[in-house]
Amino acid sequence: MTSRVFCAIDTADMEQALNLVKRLSGASLHFKLGLEFFNANGLDGVEKIRAAISDKSEIFLDLKLHDIPNTVAGAVRSIIKVRPQFLTVHASGGRAMIKAASKAAGSGAGRTKILAVTVMTSLNQEDLASVGQTGSVEEQVLRLAHLARDSGADGVICSPHEIEVLRRDMGDDFLLVVPGIRPAGSAQNDQKRTMLPEKAFKRGADYLVIGRPITESTDPVAAAKSI
Ligand code: C5P
Repeated sequence: MTSRVFCAIDTADMEQALNLVKRLSGASLHFKLGLEFFNANGLDGVEKIRAAISDKSEIFLDLKLHDIPNTVAGAVRSIIKVRPQFLTVHASGGRAMIKAASKAAGSGAGRTKILAVTVMTSLNQEDLASVGQTGSVEEQVLRLAHLARDSGADGVICSPHEIEVLRRDMGDDFLLVVPGIRPAGSAQNDQKRTMLPEKAFKRGADYLVIGRPITESTDPVAAAKSI
């Protein structure tokens, strides 16, 4: 079965990232590279990771783009040269920006899919109010998920606790990609409201993002395989 787990490689150190993906390449995982890795290593770094992983492993670039539509479209065109399966933009960038990102990602089966970030899980009700957003976090997540879908995004990043309501509201064809996952017995780290991988899949997640329970394990391959 094709894996539906992206391992988050959160390091700026190219050597460390390469060592990790090489060790994990037999564990049928995909890999997520974020701002920490990308700002240190750029598109060349992504190509090096691509060369080190199996043909079956996909790359997810979690770059959370947010700018005027023209700039985001240009960024997407630069980024898709390394053929990531997924690329993130902030849904709060608005309809025109999401549309520009989706259009720039091109068409066809192998195109990069655009995932929208709704409300960052580091923000609570009070934080939303402080930037002028009244209403609950859930209302805002749903509002932004609808906006993202209507603007051509392929899916959203959501917390495990939003899976059910989003799946119910958005139907089956909208991708739900979910971080904040902790297998039984692993440390919570700075994640506050986590969920077991099997439970998140059961609730309707399409893909899970799991970082430190794999990368900081004494045996990352065994940790990945047990997930
Ligand atoms: O190590 P851990 O499993 O907590 O890593 C989760 C990954 O998912 C990290 O790369 C983190 O930046 C990302 N992420 C998250 N929560 C979000 C969005 C992304 O943990 N709401």
